[in-house]
Amino acid sequence: PPVSLRMRIRQLPPQLINQIAAGEVIERPASVVKELVENAFDAGARQVEVDVEEGGVRLIRIRDDGCGIDREDLGLALSRHATSKIASLEDLERVATLGFRGEALSSISAIARLTLTSRTADAPCGWRVSADGSESGFEIQPAQHARGTTVEVRDLFYNTPARRKFLRAEKTEFGHIQMLVQRMALARFDVGLRLRHNQREVLRLRPDTEEAGGAERIGALCGSDFLEQALRVDFEASGLRLHGWVGLPTFSRSQADLQFFYVNRRLVRDKLVGHAVRQAYQDVMYHQRQPVYVLYLEIDPGLVDVNAHPAKLEVRFREGRMVHDFLFSALHRSIAGHRPGQAVGVVE
Ligand code: ADP
Ligand code: MG
Repeated sequence: PPVSLRMRIRQLPPQLINQIAAGEVIERPASVVKELVENAFDAGARQVEVDVEEGGVRLIRIRDDGCGIDREDLGLALSRHATSKIASLEDLERVATLGFRGEALSSISAIARLTLTSRTADAPCGWRVSADGSESGFEIQPAQHARGTTVEVRDLFYNTPARRKFLRAEKTEFGHIQMLVQRMALARFDVGLRLRHNQREVLRLRPDTEEAGGAERIGALCGSDFLEQALRVDFEASGLRLHGWVGLPTFSRSQADLQFFYVNRRLVRDKLVGHAVRQAYQDVMYHQRQPVYVLYLEIDPGLVDVNAHPAKLEVRFREGRMVHDFLFSALHRSIAGHRPGQAVGVVE
């Protein structure tokens, strides 16, 4: 008989449980950056610094000036299913933070060497805790740190050879990180961001002022031509608000590489959204061209399920039809007047 039938059932050790969880959340270095920047945003940071070495495999260090973590909570922060963001099912059903699963730090610490240094506003000094996946408990030591948190992740996948094998060239992995940081930067204009690779500065974004309302950042990340050829939209109806920028139909692209959609400041990929947008452009854009947009949907958190995917890239709308129709009609109204060749821009 197959061997498995003769084996006894056993409880897996915690490190292996965390490594299995990490398989779903941490696909590559950029996934680590995503989780850590989300944590910085959730902590109310105004400035986030990302340092990367060798495509993130050797080092990812993220420093923020957010609320910090209490000394007594440092061990818990690295434990699985431990979170400060939700406490009950009611909380889960209306999560307003980016994180809530309490899995990122424990997963990362199971597949890399992780050091967490943090200081809260009222603590006399910072504290540091390290974890490398072994089960030797956490040792907490005092450390220099300003208010905020630094997470250092070294030697990603050093103990999971199967994952390590799937890593691409340094340049490719860094490309994913850069793309990710740009996407996250579009989610929060009010947060300054800096990205460095192998000590070289790649991106530096100041927080956008209230008046600029994101225009400066949009220009920096999407290009000034996008700003010039995009319509600013802002619609509100039935408790939903859609705002941001949509490209004129004449400013289309052959690839879907300038399409960003955020639900409550969370970047998502969603079929329903994609469909509504395509439909809105249908009559005014040449077949096979891709519209460009940076759009923000604000919706009651109780009407979206963000717990649809371990990496939290997908959401489910409780009232999908209503959301779809709202998006379609808002966008359709904005762009309906613009037919190919009619407005400014280049038509191929
Ligand atoms: P989650 O974000 O889902 O709660 P994580 O494993 O990412 O789970 O983080 C665990 C906990 O550690 C968080 O709930 C938060 O309390 C704390 N934490 C993590 N990163 C930071 C940070 N940069 N600043 C402040 N607290 C943090
Ligand atoms: Mg998190």
